[in-house]
Amino acid sequence: MYHTLLLATRNEGKKEELAALLVDLDIDCISLADLEARGITTTPVAETGTSFEENAILKAEGYARQTGFLTLADDSGLEVKALGGRPGVQTARYGGDGLSSVERYHYLLAQMREVPAPDRSARFCCVVAVASAQGVLATAEGGVRGRIAHEPRGDAGFGYDPVFVVRDYGKTMAELPAETKNRISHRARAIAALKPELLRLLAG
Ligand code: IMP
Repeated sequence: MYHTLLLATRNEGKKEELAALLVDLDIDCISLADLEARGITTTPVAETGTSFEENAILKAEGYARQTGFLTLADDSGLEVKALGGRPGVQTARYGGDGLSSVERYHYLLAQMREVPAPDRSARFCCVVAVASAQGVLATAEGGVRGRIAHEPRGDAGFGYDPVFVVRDYGKTMAELPAETKNRISHRARAIAALKPELLRLLAG
């Protein structure tokens, strides 16, 4: 029987977002930072996979083995059709090391400068994996379809939000209220798809 779910992130914002999506489950969500505050340190798991699924599994299994906790990890990024699916698993590092997120989305806009409006389709993708110390137990995927804008719009959110126009809204992610984004996001959809399996695991 599991009473605690480790969310494999040191980012407090992501912990809060994931914990809010899991609030209806009868389980305590803690983060890697919460563990550190209790004196349990973990070694970062290298994201060496070639797909979101591989990286999510690497992280879930890696932290579950280190801590013994049932662990949920996510991996996410942006797939742009005109760039052959890039940046994909390289999304966080796209354009090189040391760029700010604003510089990174400007790099993306520069790569897309010659691409006409009808060919700018893109997708935010997230895969979540849950693992115990014995290995991966379940995975699920969620996505949001849209297109890459010609210029940034909006101040909300983070990362590539100002340049991603959500298909069904005609607004960038950064123009949507947080409540809307958190309801329709790739992370929300991945967690919703994982929930039946999580409920089975927690019941057993
Ligand atoms: P990670 O999976 O949290 O490591 O995120 C991978 C990359 O995708 C980072 O560069 C994020 O900025 C970007 N990313 C993930 N989710 C979002 C989102 O909801 N909005 C904007 N960028 C995102």
